[in-house]
Amino acid sequence: MTRIETEIVIVGSGPAGATLARELCRQGRKVVLLEKGRWHQWPVGRFASMGTITRTVRSRQGGLMARGITAGGSSVVFNGNAYDPPSWLGSELGIDLCPETAATKAELGIKPLPESFYQSWPATRRLVESAGELDIPLHPQAKFIDPEKCDPRCDDCMFGCRQGAKWTARSFLEEAREHGARVLLNAEVDRVILEAGQAKGVKLAGPGGLQEVRGEKVVLSAGGLGTPLILMRSGIEKAGEGFFIDPMNVVLAVGKEHGTRGEMTFAFASEEFVESDGFLVGTVGALMVLGAQLAQRRSFRAWRRVLDLRRIMGMFTKIGDTPGGRIDPDGTIDKPYPAEDREKFRKGTEACQRILLKAGADPDSILIAHDIGGHPGGTAAIGRVVDRELQALAAKNLYVCDASVFPRSPGRPPTLTLIALAKYLAKRI
Ligand SMILES: Cc1cc2nc3c(=O)[nH]c(=O)nc-3n(C[C@H](O)[C@H](O)[C@H](O)COP(=O)(O)OP(=O)(O)OC[C@H]3O[C@@H](n4cnc5c(N)ncnc54)[C@H](O)[C@@H]3O)c2cc1C
Repeated sequence: MTRIETEIVIVGSGPAGATLARELCRQGRKVVLLEKGRWHQWPVGRFASMGTITRTVRSRQGGLMARGITAGGSSVVFNGNAYDPPSWLGSELGIDLCPETAATKAELGIKPLPESFYQSWPATRRLVESAGELDIPLHPQAKFIDPEKCDPRCDDCMFGCRQGAKWTARSFLEEAREHGARVLLNAEVDRVILEAGQAKGVKLAGPGGLQEVRGEKVVLSAGGLGTPLILMRSGIEKAGEGFFIDPMNVVLAVGKEHGTRGEMTFAFASEEFVESDGFLVGTVGALMVLGAQLAQRRSFRAWRRVLDLRRIMGMFTKIGDTPGGRIDPDGTIDKPYPAEDREKFRKGTEACQRILLKAGADPDSILIAHDIGGHPGGTAAIGRVVDRELQALAAKNLYVCDASVFPRSPGRPPTLTLIALAKYLAKRI
């Protein structure tokens, strides 16, 4: 049997795993990080990223869920929006991430883009003005983007960024390597090795090659969809329950003027209704809004819109859904939405439609792609599967560090929170 030994084994190289590896190696700790994906190069920034880097799964109910299976995880294809951690992490769970969040913002220069960017997006500005007239204030969004390197007319963030303007977890992974981490790609973890109630390492999937990595501590950062599967295969009870995904409805409409082609997706958004009504609304570039329709509908009406590409505008609404889904050991996802969630969708989608119509959209052109999500979590929640130190209740020296630990949806994109959480754990493990 081929086996290696280390001090800390980390599974997954997304924002959480890569940050943790970097922080621990900087402290002089010995780390092996295992990542199922490869270091894809060529598809980054191209359509080819869909299907190579981005993998989708569907829930039993038809919801479409996307994530990156690659070095750097979903950060390679994320949209680069940054939101502070939810206040309840501190007030209810005693996990105060303020210092780690402030440090990350300063280090990565997270802030809205310069005013010149927003001026170069006329259709997006029309949407912002129309929303303002409807008392839906859309604000420029803080981004993990270096404006010096960014091409404001490409809107390729979700294909990966060829300019290197968008931060991805790959930069932290490289730093971790420079500080001594051993990063193994194409290395899929099957389960945690548990002996006498303690984690002793992980077993890899597949025949041949490396079969085990032994360590004093194991941290699972395989994401809200990956981590519960490893936990379930390891015999940890209650993993996979409490699933949320922050689903979106993406609304397309055709106007008379030039649309949002080449204008950055999620450049403006409104958090006005997150606390009161549970939804966020924001702007979408033309290619992305069309892509969402084709991915989710594949109908003739959606394909016909390709001809209108120049005049297409888009809005999305994202809801903070109730954590009522579950993932089964075979990977099947059950994600029904109770009446409460359906009401959030209704209100958010209506807000998008009103903004688009005010901005000059043809009412007959509206298409809605329902239930698309990319923020999986809740499946190894604090209080159910792990404690407040992120250690498994059922096994010592086994930790979870990703959105699986959130008992409910933060209701906003979680990457900044996950980086802060990994820094927080690195000080305690
Ligand atoms: C299209 C899209 C757009 C998004 N936009 C935003 C945004 O603008 N802002 C924001 O904050 N968030 C956004 N997100 C969400 C964000 O990218 C994720 O929440 C974040 O990347 C999660 O980080 P993570 O480290 O927990 O997991 P991931 O990034 O999912 O990384 C987990 C890693 O674990 C690996 N893995 C899984 N199973 C195994 C296994 N068995 N063995 C070994 N490795 C394994 C995977 O290959 C992956 O690389 C977006 C997501 C998507 C898909």
